[in-house]
Amino acid sequence: MAEKSKGQKLQESLSYKKKNYYEVASEAERKEIFDFAKGYMAYLDAAKTEREACAVSVAEAKKKGFTEFKFGDKLKAGDKKYFINRDKSVVVFRVGTKNIEEDGLRIIASHIDAPRVDIKQVPLYEDSGMCYLKTHYYGGIKKYQWTAIPLALHGAVVLKNGKKIEISVGEAAGDPVFYIDDLLPHLGADQMAKGAGKIIEGEQLNVVVGGLPYADEDVSDKIKLNVLSILNEKYGMCEEDFLSAELSAVPAYGARDVGFDRALIGAYGHDDRVCAYPALRAVLDNDSAHTVLAMLVDKEEIGSEGTTGIQCKVYEDLMEEISVALGANFRKVRFASKCLSSDVTAAYDPNFAGVYEKLNSALLSCGTCMSKFTGARGKSGSNDASAEFVGEVRKMFDEDGVVWQTAELGKVDAGGGGTVAKFVAGLNIDTVDLGVPVISMHAPWELVSKADVYSNYKAFLAFMK
Ligand code: MN
Ligand code: MN
Repeated sequence: MAEKSKGQKLQESLSYKKKNYYEVASEAERKEIFDFAKGYMAYLDAAKTEREACAVSVAEAKKKGFTEFKFGDKLKAGDKKYFINRDKSVVVFRVGTKNIEEDGLRIIASHIDAPRVDIKQVPLYEDSGMCYLKTHYYGGIKKYQWTAIPLALHGAVVLKNGKKIEISVGEAAGDPVFYIDDLLPHLGADQMAKGAGKIIEGEQLNVVVGGLPYADEDVSDKIKLNVLSILNEKYGMCEEDFLSAELSAVPAYGARDVGFDRALIGAYGHDDRVCAYPALRAVLDNDSAHTVLAMLVDKEEIGSEGTTGIQCKVYEDLMEEISVALGANFRKVRFASKCLSSDVTAAYDPNFAGVYEKLNSALLSCGTCMSKFTGARGKSGSNDASAEFVGEVRKMFDEDGVVWQTAELGKVDAGGGGTVAKFVAGLNIDTVDLGVPVISMHAPWELVSKADVYSNYKAFLAFMK
């Protein structure tokens, strides 16, 4: 090879260029990328709702010797704990040896809820040979994408007697699935002339759950009665129990390798389990001197509200409990703490190039992506992280050889989005967004790169080191 020219050398030392992680990974690291994806895909299949993600995360933590923490419990260096909030969110943490008044907490905050189609409180009806459940969608979805695909039903029902039962139908081999119908193209001329937001409307997202009439000439709504009799037999439910139920229709598909080379993963709910799982693993696999937390929270998709969303005081209370248990001043702890708000971003999609600005877009397989700010229009609604904090995190990543990139979600004024970052930052904790680029975000089946999933995990380890 000819020696590099002066200009070439100068260009190399002065210019910034994103790197494709697959291109720069050693053979051993490539194997790690693919191995890590297997664990992630198993987690995805076992955790399609926040309740399931919470339960599966706790089970993983228990395997590593973590035990439950309750408010008022004592803590000491080396303790490995998880805190469950109403079975829908969980904080997994490990107490380090450093003084948390000076060193703070190292927090990764991601969410385990995902867009879906929720069942209404009075949902069941029969019409024209079919029995349906009425729904109300949760989070930002393109409604037409949820028709004509196999759906599973997940959730919890609190029966009249107060007993809670968990339901999951449509995942196991041989299980039936459910279905939202769409119009045949032969009769679709008027429908197809509408805007995409109107071709399927909210009240058309009705889930088919039966078609077999109950064998009795003397009753009406025979198919509905037959479905009710099955629910009663299997779960002890009657129709009124839907009033106190939380059931969701989610895609019945499992996570699959995508591409001849298996570089990518297709799955429901990458947003944001693709950050939650590496965050969980990073804390479970951790032995650093810092006190580290993975906060896996609920309700991000509807604004982080309620008792399980990150705006709830319970998370602040927990941090205060940890501080008090370690004899530290909570205000000092918060001031010294650092947080990665770990949520997905939009990957640059060449099929829709017009909504992106390529220099500042997340490119697939170029590593986990930092967003200094999110929001819409003039950065509205965003936690705009400081240059100082970004510089600090950048140094951590670079020192550990993390392949990472930065991006904005789309070009200026094309749209926007928010994360939990601003709420954590509001507690007086330095926070910046970091997460995996996703293609087809919020679709029933989203796409990510295995390289980016592993890069995310490596970034979390570097941040906690
Ligand atoms: Mn998200
Ligand atoms: Mn989302």
